[in-house]
Amino acid sequence: MSDTTKYLLPENRIPKSWYNIAADLPEPLAPVLHPGTGQPIGPDDLAPLFPMELIGQEVSTEREIEIPEPVRDVYRLWRPAPLYRARRLEAALDTPARIYYKYEGVSPSGSHKPNTAVAQAFYNREAGTRRLSTETGAGQWGSSLSFAGNLFGLQVDVYMVKISFNQKPYRRALMETYGGRCVASPSNETEAGRAILAKDPGSNGSLGIAISEAVEVAAGRDDTKYALGSVLNHVLLHQSVIGLEAIEQMEMADDFPDIIIACAGGGSNFAGLAFPFLGQQLRGGKDVRVIAVEPAACPTMTRGTYAYDFGDTGHLTPLVKMHTLGSTFVPEGIHAGGLRYHGMSPLVSHILDLGLIEAQAYHQTACFEAGLTFARTEGIVPAPEATHAICSAIAEAEICKQNGEARTILFGLSGHGNFDMQAYTDYLAGKLVDHAHNEDELARAIGELPEVAAE
Ligand SMILES: *Cc1c(COP(=O)(O)O)cnc(C)c1O
Repeated sequence: MSDTTKYLLPENRIPKSWYNIAADLPEPLAPVLHPGTGQPIGPDDLAPLFPMELIGQEVSTEREIEIPEPVRDVYRLWRPAPLYRARRLEAALDTPARIYYKYEGVSPSGSHKPNTAVAQAFYNREAGTRRLSTETGAGQWGSSLSFAGNLFGLQVDVYMVKISFNQKPYRRALMETYGGRCVASPSNETEAGRAILAKDPGSNGSLGIAISEAVEVAAGRDDTKYALGSVLNHVLLHQSVIGLEAIEQMEMADDFPDIIIACAGGGSNFAGLAFPFLGQQLRGGKDVRVIAVEPAACPTMTRGTYAYDFGDTGHLTPLVKMHTLGSTFVPEGIHAGGLRYHGMSPLVSHILDLGLIEAQAYHQTACFEAGLTFARTEGIVPAPEATHAICSAIAEAEICKQNGEARTILFGLSGHGNFDMQAYTDYLAGKLVDHAHNEDELARAIGELPEVAAE
């Protein structure tokens, strides 16, 4: 094997189509239900929130969906993204494992999120949308959509989870630099926000609450649509460029992953990397072990229930079947803001339920320790979310060492942590604590799951 460090594809190898795993599933997804009637919803029910082209992608079972040329043209700013062989990390771990990572931090906002933000902004502009409303956790999505919205002439309003709004002032500055408007959530601008503030004036906010605010704004205005940065099928679809490129890059490396690892908040960077490989497996190709990693403080897949639930705390969204901690569960204020969501994408949940993937949960101090090891060997300071993937990759590489097995590990480095230095400051000062999820809070939130006749 050569001693190459970086596998780069030429610009003309940016994928021409996204990959849709719905075409290869052994069993179809459970239908999305109307919260009022309990019946499956149709495209018209979603029309106030999304342009028809994205609704079509949401329900599509076509294997390949063409990437519009204007979207590929923006992708050219940073794609194809590099795939690295982590030789210095391997040496530091003294492991026989070969470790590769696909790096999405080369995008303008520093994560994988522009892969879908650009597509969503494009389809909205084509449909005549003037304004997009959205939520953001750590601020990665808000800055990605602000960047993409600006390129396509859309105004972007971002409801940012309050704890992150306070922890990450530079993310807000980035949104505003790209022309977005950033509001701390819960806010006084919406009924959903005012209801939370009336009950809990000191609320840290949550993604579920911020989604309620953004959905309320979009539903109430004709010129405004809603954009979600994860969870939905069309978002996972757009992220498939990550894995499609990685398949080619692993071929360049003359290697193939035994294990694929990515962190999962709503599941989009995980699905983006893993689904193209899983699709090959489902069509009779090589088997691959796939691990989704979540925070122990918000253990959606490892401790949640697989059931119909709302996507938001205010119960404005349709009901989707997913692994969930309950839509009213508010996780501790861990630094991986992008992983603080009560649910998991229906596609990732279904595939986990089918036994095609595994889930692991790690505490944040172990993740930051892994992040530091990575920064000190490979040089890139990982986003707090991405440290979860690194933590798992290191654990698997250590198992390889114990067993003397030279396995190939590929993990997703979903973004850099250059805007998350407060988290590293806290870690280095010994101030980070591990929050177990609160059992009583979990029992309460699960007890409030909606009853659904169709189940
Ligand atoms: C948002 C974010 C995540 C979590 O979102 P997914 O949809 O689960 O990918 C992970 N890593 C980074 C860097 C993020 O910005």
